[in-house]
Amino acid sequence: MTFFDDFSIRSEIKQAVKEMGFEEPSPIQEKAIPKILEKIDLIGQAQTGTGKTAAFGIPIINSVTTEKHVQAIILTPTRELAIQVSGEIQKLSRHVGVRTMPIYGGQSIGHQIRALKEGVQIVIGTPGRVQDHLRRGTLELNQVKTVVLDEADEMLDMGFVEDIETILKRVNKDRQTLLFSATMPPAIKKLSQKYMVKPQVVSINKGEVTAPSIAQVYYKVLEKNKQDSLCRILDSQDPELGIIFCRTKKGVAELTEALQARGYLADGLHGDLNQAQRDAVMKKFRDASIEFLVATDVAARGIDVQNVSHVINYDIPQDPESYVHRIGRTGRAGKNGQALTIVTPREMKHLRSIEAEIKMTIPSSEVPSIEEVVEK
Ligand code: ADP
Ligand code: MG
Repeated sequence: MTFFDDFSIRSEIKQAVKEMGFEEPSPIQEKAIPKILEKIDLIGQAQTGTGKTAAFGIPIINSVTTEKHVQAIILTPTRELAIQVSGEIQKLSRHVGVRTMPIYGGQSIGHQIRALKEGVQIVIGTPGRVQDHLRRGTLELNQVKTVVLDEADEMLDMGFVEDIETILKRVNKDRQTLLFSATMPPAIKKLSQKYMVKPQVVSINKGEVTAPSIAQVYYKVLEKNKQDSLCRILDSQDPELGIIFCRTKKGVAELTEALQARGYLADGLHGDLNQAQRDAVMKKFRDASIEFLVATDVAARGIDVQNVSHVINYDIPQDPESYVHRIGRTGRAGKNGQALTIVTPREMKHLRSIEAEIKMTIPSSEVPSIEEVVEK
């Protein structure tokens, strides 16, 4: 068994880790941290919620100096994730005295430019905004020691591949490149072959793609009964916090309205909302002043809300990898979670391809009858 004390890292980091309540390294941290400390290129594959941020964050903090230039850049798919990763690295580096900053679209670029001028050692950014700074000449990456592509599969899904390549070309060649991803589609392998030097792969999936802490079940339901069935499932399961996934923005708007009309504390998150509206919905969900977040895949990317007890696939995802991402929003940091999928008869083929991807059979369950729900 390994402890944080066993790593050859600065005592200030060990102190911070202790204060954050981490008792021992998670499996991905145990395997990846020593290798990253050796400065090799590394691909880390692990499910969401397994502590990948600290796996790359700790070695990065260990290697940065107080010199006032950017020494590490971490690319994340979304603004929310940039903020989360930045927050985690700030906590880990609280005794080290380096500056960490998230840069993302939707925030005043002037503010970011001023901060960058004052000297930032670790930058966490979304590919679009990082590119923007590179074009303006307000961000220099020629002294970067480490580049991280966090949630690389999601970044590629979101169409960031060209931005990523442009950014990687601007980072000095003599650097360490780290790539973290929950899944390893061919596009990721291609990217790593092009931009990484003999990367070592650290995987803790052992063939299991989804975390064992997530109980998965599906309900076969006729299209016309979906709303009623969802409500009965919600009433019988009584989730603490639940994310309900729909396929389209329109689906999100319609289901949100229907749930609200039936008295559920629900709100919707989709791509048509502006940043302030998004933030307001996320705040309500984090504060648990709403119980259900209804969302599209894109809107829910990278969200790490504690205590999400249920992920409900109101519309089954057509692509198996998005199933893995969706249900990874629950069962985080060792907690138990429920992943419930509503499947119409026509959609059974999607369920089968998901089962093939996750290499397990998802058990079916019956939608509780009205009587059963009322008796509860
Ligand atoms: P991932 O990037 O793999 O999805 P995160 O890095 O976001 O996961 O970590 C998920 C949660 O687990 C965070 O709240 C983080 O603070 C916590 N965590 C990370 N490492 C440990 C650890 N060694 N012990 C306890 N909690 C941890
Ligand atoms: Mg992560």
